[in-house]
Order: sequence, then C-alpha cells, then structure tokens
Amino acid sequence: MKAFSCPRCRGQQKRLGERCVQCGADLTALARIVERADAAHDAAVRAARAGRWAEAGEQASVALAFVPDDVDTIVLLAKVTHRQGRRKRSVELWERAGELDPGRADVPLALADLRKPAARVPARRAKRKRRSGGR
Ligand SMILES: [Zn+2]
Repeated sequence: MKAFSCPRCRGQQKRLGERCVQCGADLTALARIVERADAAHDAAVRAARAGRWAEAGEQASVALAFVPDDVDTIVLLAKVTHRQGRRKRSVELWERAGELDPGRADVPLALADLRKPAARVPARRAKRKRRSGGR
C-alpha cells in the first residue's frame, strides 16, 4: 500500500488529496511529483517486461528521485539490478525495501538468493545436484 507524507508536517496521508489531512498544507505540488513518479515507474515496468534492463533501471531511478520511499519501485529496481548482475546494489535495495515494509515476504527470499555463495559451482553441476537432491 502506498502512503504519502506531507512535506510540511510529515503527516501520513492515506489518499493524496489537495490538502494535508493534518495541517492543511497545499499538496497539489506533491500530487504532481507523485504523478511523474508513477509515470516513470510504469515506463520502468514496460521496459523490464521487454527485457530492456538499462532503460528499466533508468526509469525506476527517475521514479525514486521523485518518491524515494516507494517500496514497489525499490523492489522493481532491485530486480532489475539483479538481472544486470549488480548484486551489491540489488542487496542494498532489497534491504531498503525490507526496512520500509517488514511484512513483505519476497524480501527475505530475494536476499537469501542473492547471498548464496556465487556461482563457483559450474551451472550444469548445480542443476543436476538440485534435481537429484530432493528436498
Ligand atoms: Zn501537513
């Protein structure tokens, strides 16, 4: 679920209206920023689906520049950087997503996957092992 905080009082808004529910500050500028972030997020999703990882990463970074704490975008960028082989960056992003939303079940799974000792074992052997290993 998305939440927005008022730039003046940090009050949480469940929905982004014209004014802050707590202090009454004008939130129309924030709404425009969120719109741009959403557009960049959508562009990143389209690029990722098409396998254009560089473009996906760029658009997700743009979205995060507008709304830094958007967990969905952080997770998207974590997946993109993983695909790009940028493990360290991907781990940082997954950790950040877990901090912002501790309830996400995909975060520990992704981190466990990324922290596995990296491909020292030849891929073919690893596959066979997995198949015969059972459990
Ligand atoms: Zn406020």
